[in-house]
Amino acid sequence: MSPSIGFPPPDPETCLVGSRVSRFKGGTLIDEDVCDREAHERRVCDPDGYRPAGCPRCGHDVLHVHSYPERHPRGELGLPPVVRIVQYICTAADCGATWRILPLFLARHLWRRWLTPERVVKPDDTPAPRDAPPIPERTKRRWRARFAASARMLVVLLAASGGIALEAVAARVGLDASRAELVDAHADLARVTPGARLAALAALAHRLERGMRLM
Ligand SMILES: [Zn+2]
Repeated sequence: MSPSIGFPPPDPETCLVGSRVSRFKGGTLIDEDVCDREAHERRVCDPDGYRPAGCPRCGHDVLHVHSYPERHPRGELGLPPVVRIVQYICTAADCGATWRILPLFLARHLWRRWLTPERVVKPDDTPAPRDAPPIPERTKRRWRARFAASARMLVVLLAASGGIALEAVAARVGLDASRAELVDAHADLARVTPGARLAALAALAHRLERGMRLM
């Protein structure tokens, strides 16, 4: 038995609380259809590949490719050391917001594929392959602590989303759930397969409130 049974999970780190919507002109959007490197490489080569239908800031429907920022995953199996993503700029004269598009499988802020932290926090049903590069113990501890932390803000977000299925996830776990419990409930109700569970909930949180982090 865990000694914490009966107590709510601990508060998450500050970086996991709150969004960055209002502080920046533009930001990151997640393309939830792009689940692997091959699909990403096809999309990123094509100027239209990731182009948003409209600017999320002003609604203007003409966005141009602005640049190709690089992401540098930390020794990830199956990923090159440099992953190019695409950034678009809104051409409305009074906007000019820029939007970086991340494929679903790349975790914002973690320099990893989502599959890697999922293998650490849920090793039983998502075992790491033998040839996976080792992950520093400190990093693993940080991920596990975040996973065990309170999911209250995320639960509130889901409960207020206006979607019946998402409200059901929030209702199942309640306000005192940990992030681990929320991931499980969401995966169960939304039928997310092992290996995609963290990515799916992280993308959903970011879609509901840009900048809201799962991990
Ligand atoms: Zn705009």
